[in-house]
This record gives sequence, structure tokens and C-alpha cells, in this order.
Amino acid sequence: MKQKTRILALLLALLMTVALVGCAQEQTEEPAPTPEAGQDAEQGTEQDAEQGTEAMDVDVVIVGAGMSGLMAAYEFETAHPDVTYVVLEKLGYVTGSLPATGGIIAGINSQYHEDAGIAPATTSDFADLFEITSKTEVNRELIDNVYAHSDVVLNNLIEWGAPFITTPEAASVYSDKVYGLRTENRGSTFATFLQNKVEEDGLNILMQTTATELIVQDGAVKGVKAESKDKNYEITADYVLLATGGFGSNAEMIAEYCPAYTDAMVSSNAGATGDAITMTEQFGTKVVGEGVMGAPMSTDGNALVTSMFLVNGKGERFISEAEPKYVIQSEVVYNQDATAYYIVDANYSDQEQIQQKVEAGVLTPYDSLEEMAEDLGMDSATLIATVEAYNAAIDAGTDPEFGLPVAKATKIETAPFYADKMWHRFFGTIPGVEINNDCQVLNGEGAPVPGLYASGEATAGNAFTYQYPGAGIGISYAANSGRLAAENIANALQK
Ligand SMILES: Cc1cc2nc3c(=O)[nH]c(=O)nc-3n(C[C@H](O)[C@H](O)[C@H](O)COP(=O)(O)OP(=O)(O)OC[C@H]3O[C@@H](n4cnc5c(N)ncnc54)[C@H](O)[C@@H]3O)c2cc1C
Repeated sequence: MKQKTRILALLLALLMTVALVGCAQEQTEEPAPTPEAGQDAEQGTEQDAEQGTEAMDVDVVIVGAGMSGLMAAYEFETAHPDVTYVVLEKLGYVTGSLPATGGIIAGINSQYHEDAGIAPATTSDFADLFEITSKTEVNRELIDNVYAHSDVVLNNLIEWGAPFITTPEAASVYSDKVYGLRTENRGSTFATFLQNKVEEDGLNILMQTTATELIVQDGAVKGVKAESKDKNYEITADYVLLATGGFGSNAEMIAEYCPAYTDAMVSSNAGATGDAITMTEQFGTKVVGEGVMGAPMSTDGNALVTSMFLVNGKGERFISEAEPKYVIQSEVVYNQDATAYYIVDANYSDQEQIQQKVEAGVLTPYDSLEEMAEDLGMDSATLIATVEAYNAAIDAGTDPEFGLPVAKATKIETAPFYADKMWHRFFGTIPGVEINNDCQVLNGEGAPVPGLYASGEATAGNAFTYQYPGAGIGISYAANSGRLAAENIANALQK
């Protein structure tokens, strides 16, 4: 029997959850007391008082207690109870990015999908969706493996009492197969539920404990060294799973792996510093994939005006305004010199929003399109021609150039005119350490590093690239890849 550690920082975790929502950047690591570790004789724990280093021995060290690390731990708990493990979490709360999310986890074939009469889907439906948004072929075998038991992951969450709204919602306009389950009141509710569950179940977690380096012997990973406020750990293990999340809180890595987004608004969690990338550099592990998960905001960090008329920095339309915002963002960043404006006129439905944005200095009222073009550095003839063509498309009832369903659009014709500039924003990063289809980390030559697995956002670029594939995919990829990695580790341990 494994000895379980109670997480003593629940109250603190809930406070952190509240603090995280809305502005993960502002988080600070929690100065609360580190919970007692769940060491016992079976795990070979031994304290070296002089060094302040505690030795521990387990089958598996999971680094990171986000969705991915937690679902890996639950795979051991539920399906492979003989596996001894410890989860290390550097922050003062578990669930990583989850509290700040929309709280939707994509999936197929759960009880709620069935109840809602949604047709059974397959793992290929995930791959089809990822292929559309990635704009390139994707690794279907990895995606099949990751999502092979996504119904089990969702059904477990349902059975455990996750506060999901029972009606699934489509993950993307590009798929009529993949649906997600959303929690009431977004991610904070989802995270609170999971934090409570983890505490009740007494998962073996060392809070506020940072894995600092891998223990490597003869090229094989044999554990990790870790640090908390009070002591150091040397944890030997047959396997290490890196579930450390992305690198949104690491400006240097953003500059290196997502250079198009260096000026973007970042909403990653404070622990997302790319530690999987740093820890695997020694093996020459490649970082694969590009881009970010995210959708744009207005320049003050608030929502953009809800306009169906979008132009680039030259005053030209370039995409159907009905495309998902995360698709529009990557089109702007990669192909439109990173500049775009949503334009509205005096007939815009939410005049209160306009007034607030004018008072905040985000919007300027323009008496004419010429004045707007001059102020924004556009050629006024181009902007006026674009507006005329747009209005004509609405009159004609069709937009042959970009396919906007114009029934939803209103003409731009009455001063004052306003232009809300898009500010690129991301909440997750895509480039991640290269893994094989079993979630084993690969070295620079494409061979598995013995003893080392990775999952979650730290590996997202292996499954999709370029942009966010749809609502709930970040959470579902983290959960399902964590579960897969744990299953493969348990099989390797023959436990
Ligand atoms: C504001 C925001 C909104 C989002 N909205 C959505 C959404 O609506 N839908 C969706 O699907 N996805 C969304 N995402 C993305 C999604 O939440 C993540 O992709 C997913 O939760 C990642 O899970 P993870 O476990 O891989 O990583 P994380 O959640 O980042 O967890 C990793 C954990 O590892 C810890 N850690 C890192 N390094 C170490 C170390 N060396 N030692 C110990 N611990 C370490 C971190 O502190 C962190 O707690 C959003 C993210 C954010 C921030």
C-alpha cells in the first residue's frame, strides 16, 4: 500500500485560484508552509540533516501538478495502484493553468455525449481537426494513442462529480464530431473541484517543491533533484514524467520559440517556465511545433468590440470575420504584419462599451473614414474602397471574396467611426519537447531517453502546431497525454 500525503494547503490553493483568474501574470509563488511529504519506509525516505537533503525512492516522479500531471497520478491511483509515485509542484496550488481557463475539456463518447445524442466519434476526428488548424499533416498515431481513452477520462471526471454542464458543446467550427464538457462558472469551478478531489484522495504531492535537475546515470534518467523552501530532495525513480506545462512565463523562450508573439499579452500560469525544455537540453532533445494557443484582446487587455468588419494595417479585408478569433489572430500575426483593426460606426449596438473605451483612450471617434485612415497610417482611398465593397456585399447578401455570412453583418456608414486595434494574446504555448508515440522523450537522434517521459502542454507541438485547435483542446490534450504516459510507464514497470 502506498502511503498518501495529505495536501495541507487547500485553503491557500483556493485563494491562489481566485488570484490566478484574469491575470495569471500577476501571480506570485505562494509563501505558505510546505505540506508534509508522504515519505515512508517503503519509499526509502531518509533525511540527511547536515545537507538538508532528503532521499526518497519511488517508481515514478511526476513533475508538475497541472491537469496532465494530476491525470497521470490518477491513472496510477485507479488502474495501477502498485505503482509508487510522487508529484512535485513548484507553486502553492495544484491544477496549473486550469483555474484561469474557460473550463471546457474536449472529448468524445462520454456519458453526456451519449445522453445528448451526439454521434459516436473516433480518435481520427481529433486528428482531422488538428490537421485543419495546424495547416500541415499531423502525427495521427500519437493523437490516436493520446485520445484512445478520452471517454474514460471524461466519464471518470463525471463519476467523481465534476460540475460539468450536461450538454456538450462543439469544440470548433471545423469539426462536427469533437465536443467538450464545460464546467459551470468556467475554469475556477473545475479547478476547485479537482483541488478538493486531490485533497480528499490524498494524492502523494510535494507542494512548493521545484524539480531542478534530472538524475542521469549512463545516459538513463534515474530520478530528480528538487528544492523546497525548507529542504532539498534527491528522489530516485525508475521513471520521470515531465508534465511541466508550457513556457509562457519565460520571456527568453518566447523570443526563441515564438518570436512572432514577443509583444503579445501573456496569460500563462507563473509555473510555465519551460522546465521540460531546460531539463532535456542535455540530451539534445528537439523542440517541435510552433505558435501559441490564444485569441486576441483589445490594446487595454479587455474584450475587443464585437464587430464583423476587420481590416489589416493597409485598410484591406483579409479573412472572413466569422472565423474563430484564434484563427484570425494567427492569420494577422503571420500574414498581415501583425496589425489589424475591428471597425464599428455610430450604429454599433453596445454604445456603453464604446464610451468606456473612448474614456480609456482605447478608441478615438473619427468624423470620417479619411480621418481614421490618416490617423492609423492607412491609404484613405484603400480603406474607403474596402468599406464600400463590404457594404455592397451586405446589400447583395453575399461576400464572395471571404465568405462572411453577411446576414450577421451591419454596414459601416455613419460617423463617428471607431477602430479597435487587436492585441495578440496567448494563454498557452505550442512548441514542446519531442516525444514518440508512447510519450517517451527523444534525444537529438530520435531515440528514447531511457527513463524519461513527457506529457501535456510541454509536448503540445507533437500533436498540433501553428494555432489553438479549438475550445477545450489544451485541457484535453494535457489530461489525455498525462494518462497515456502513466499507462505506458505502468506497463514498462509491469505493475
Ligand atoms: C488563461 C488561460 C486560459 C486557458 N483557456 C483554455 C481553455 O479555455 N481551454 C483549453 O483547453 N485550454 C485552455 N488553456 C490552456 C490549458 O489550460 C493548458 O494547456 C493545460 O491546462 C496545460 O496543462 P498542463 O498540466 O500540461 O500544464 P500546466 O497547467 O501549466 O501545469 C504544469 C504544472 O507544472 C508545474 N511545474 C513546472 N515546472 C516545474 C518544476 N520544475 N517543478 C515542479 N513543478 C513544476 C507548474 O507550476 C504547473 O503547475 C488556458 C490556459 C490559460 C493560462
